[in-house]
Amino acid sequence: MANKNMKHKLNIPGAWFCTDPDDDNGEGCIACNVCYTGAPDFFKEDEDGNAYVVKQPLTPAEIELCQEQLEACPVASIGKDG
Ligand code: SF4
Repeated sequence: MANKNMKHKLNIPGAWFCTDPDDDNGEGCIACNVCYTGAPDFFKEDEDGNAYVVKQPLTPAEIELCQEQLEACPVASIGKDG
């Protein structure tokens, strides 16, 4: 589960978020490209390739698209309960 206490600082406020990499315990985004390739209207990459949320999904179709990214993230770095 994505750690709410490790949010990427560029996330737009709202329920959905990405976590920042944390080399100390190996959690967080690993810059794998999945979310910002699969849903570029909602996820962007920072200068290091790590993801953050730029738009909160509102419609059922938007939420479904973001949910697909959440489930595809290999390190559970996307949360929706922020
Ligand atoms: S899918 Fe997960 S690990 Fe990959 S870029 Fe997005 S948040 Fe990072």
